[in-house]
Amino acid sequence: MNTPKKAQIGSEYDLFVFAQKESEALKERLFELYLLYSLSKNLNVSLQLNELFHNTINVLKESLRIEDFCFMLIDDECNELKMWKVDDCSFGEAKGITFKIGEGISGLVAQTGESILIPDTDKDPRFLFYKGKIPDIGSFISIPLKLNNDKVIGVLNIHKKEKNAFRDTDKMLFVAIAHNVAIAIDRARNYEHAQKVAMVDELTSLYTRRYFLESSQREYRQAERRGEFFSIIMVDIDHFKYFNDTYGHLLGDEVLRKLASVLKLNARQSDVIARYGGEEFIILLPGTNKPGAVASAEKLRSAIEKKLAIEVGGGHKEKVTITAGVACYPEDGNNVEEVTASADRFLYLGKKSGRNKIVSAATDAKVAIPEKRVASRYMTALKIVSGLHQPQSIEIETDSNWKMCTVKDISKMGFRGEVEFAAKIGNVYSGKVVLNTDDHKPGQFSIRVAFAKRMCQNRYQIGAEIIDGRDNWKRLFIQTTH
Ligand code: GH3
Ligand code: MG
Ligand code: MG
Repeated sequence: MNTPKKAQIGSEYDLFVFAQKESEALKERLFELYLLYSLSKNLNVSLQLNELFHNTINVLKESLRIEDFCFMLIDDECNELKMWKVDDCSFGEAKGITFKIGEGISGLVAQTGESILIPDTDKDPRFLFYKGKIPDIGSFISIPLKLNNDKVIGVLNIHKKEKNAFRDTDKMLFVAIAHNVAIAIDRARNYEHAQKVAMVDELTSLYTRRYFLESSQREYRQAERRGEFFSIIMVDIDHFKYFNDTYGHLLGDEVLRKLASVLKLNARQSDVIARYGGEEFIILLPGTNKPGAVASAEKLRSAIEKKLAIEVGGGHKEKVTITAGVACYPEDGNNVEEVTASADRFLYLGKKSGRNKIVSAATDAKVAIPEKRVASRYMTALKIVSGLHQPQSIEIETDSNWKMCTVKDISKMGFRGEVEFAAKIGNVYSGKVVLNTDDHKPGQFSIRVAFAKRMCQNRYQIGAEIIDGRDNWKRLFIQTTH
């Protein structure tokens, strides 16, 4: 009867020991789960790499009591493992150390994507003791920093002075930690990259509109507080559509890149130059008043006119010019938006009054038209209108918009010219002459398109016959030819 009793006691005791062990293991497992949960919660909020690094080392040091560890990340440019922010003094010596992929234990882990545990470093010749910089390492574990798609972005190395200091179960926990950290690093890097991309224009390497808006608001707050000036130059390339349509977008892009580098070369260190839109650029000049900004803009305009010529094939070069509007705080607006709107209005006036010029006040647009933009006969004809009232351009209405028409030839009955809309033979359009004054209105007229030829996308050569308001047209013509 006793024997079975003893056996029973023995088995109960075994059961008790077993249950206690299970409960310990369960506790450990729970702790690990909690640790992973708190780590991933911490990492989820870190979008900046710096903050991420500090959150990670806090968890490793405080919860796991791991002192000696480092992260090495693969530098994709040179395909080498490099130390990621060495924080611990035990790694100070190894700060600049790099491993080629495949070199040493870390290099091997990065190459294979498999963890390596070395219970006794003296017995493994592959272990390099960080190329001799940290000799006091007894046991070592290296875990890949692996993303969900199995891509390895680096390794997490943990070491202890004692030999055989790691248990097999540690490895599983470290692998889970490393996976969490890898995903967080990847996300933070993508975020930093996205931020950089949002601030810098890819084509021209100038700042983006978003960056400009942020820095101009900062500048405004400072100028307002200190009672200082700042100026804004708005730049637009002349006839860029023609350039694109004639030579293609690739060459158009080259114009944008070259123009951006001329802008950079000619600006001051403190100026903020940004690509505002397609072929529009904006420059913030901190602490600069109107005359200073006009001088800067004029320097840019003339540098571009003199230096910017694009090879368009067949040994030919095309010159590029810009028109710019210059506005100043507080003279032209009470805040950034108002100053920018003024610069834009002045730019528009510059376009209206012939292009390749700087306009910094509404009256500037009334100065002489650069002659080379206008065909010679047109120029001779239009120079003399009503003495001082120079015609700026002829405009034709299409879809309720007034579009500029470049006149090549002019007569009492009509004209030949170029427009940037699909003019159709037989269609009737309204026309008007834009003068440099609002006081004198030459009146409108109607034209019928007698001839239209597409030159390139959005550019049509037309022959126009005056069919209505002929007296207005004749008056203009007579005035111009006297
Ligand atoms: P204006 O002298 O009146 O400024 O005439 P424009 O032909 O330059 O007219 P506008 O300013 O309206 O032309 C803008 C053109 O810029 C339209 C578009 O084809 C071109 N563009 C915008 N962004 C890009 C770009 O990134 N690359 C290239 N190649 N062209 C662009
Ligand atoms: Mg434009
Ligand atoms: Mg333009």
